Amino acid sequence: MEWLLNLTMEIFIAKSSGFCFGVKRAINMADSCARETRGEIYTLGPIIHNPQVVKRLEESSGVHAKKSIGEVERGTVIIRSHGARLDELNKAKDKGLNIVDATCPFVKKAQDLVSRLSAEGYTVIVAGEKDHPEVKGLVSYGSAGIRVADCAEALADMPRTKKIGVIAQTTLPIEKLEDVVSACLVKASELKVFNTICNATSIRQKESAELARKVDVMVVVGGRNSANTRRLAEICRSIREKTHHIEVASEIDPAWFEGAQTVGVTSGASTPDWVIDEAVGKIRAISGKAGH
Ligand code: SF4
Repeated sequence: MEWLLNLTMEIFIAKSSGFCFGVKRAINMADSCARETRGEIYTLGPIIHNPQVVKRLEESSGVHAKKSIGEVERGTVIIRSHGARLDELNKAKDKGLNIVDATCPFVKKAQDLVSRLSAEGYTVIVAGEKDHPEVKGLVSYGSAGIRVADCAEALADMPRTKKIGVIAQTTLPIEKLEDVVSACLVKASELKVFNTICNATSIRQKESAELARKVDVMVVVGGRNSANTRRLAEICRSIREKTHHIEVASEIDPAWFEGAQTVGVTSGASTPDWVIDEAVGKIRAISGKAGH
């Protein structure tokens, strides 16, 4: 954890802030593609869940996000770090599109596990949020009967079966996976669990929780459409009520820091450094003003 000392407030920044490995890799692949590829270039869904980065990519490189392969007729399509649904990938191949696959290798591993477990006859449970694009992609790799659950109750109506295989959305908190697994224990005689939660996620969540415990105010920086940023804000708020989730520095309100001695700053895996720097700069400025 790195710290900045100001006249009145100490600002602590979580060490793991900024892009995770998978997001960095996807952004680099999109940048190289924009530099080296001729013709139209699209991403299947926003490249990452951060509106500022998406806008920058559109404006600087002309790379636009499309909701589905149905909207792309030619050129290159970039698959983001969350991965894509198998049917969408197949459609892109059938259309003869040039595919740049930036699926994070950890997500790829989870997709492969879903295929393998399904092929081996397991009823597959994806522990995660059913509307998250990564989860939709994972489900598409399984056979009929695959289920998504983010808590034990979501499996209450599931009949007993012979074999269950569980994998997790890479950004799921471990407690949720434990909850889902506990429900599966009584649903099958054989249970196989793969903890596919990404290390980068658990480290970031742990660090942010530690930081929330030691400061007066927490600021969580990242897209409101970013599930992992929202989760960080939830975790921090459960520890430190004065937790604020912002997307950009201009949302920061000086009133949040009244009487505060310490401020913690953390960010989601899809938040670029420059957005974090701007937020820290604004807090520093507020702190400086408060001291005069
Ligand atoms: S959070 Fe983990 S799994 Fe998800 S993109 Fe980043 S490195 Fe990959």
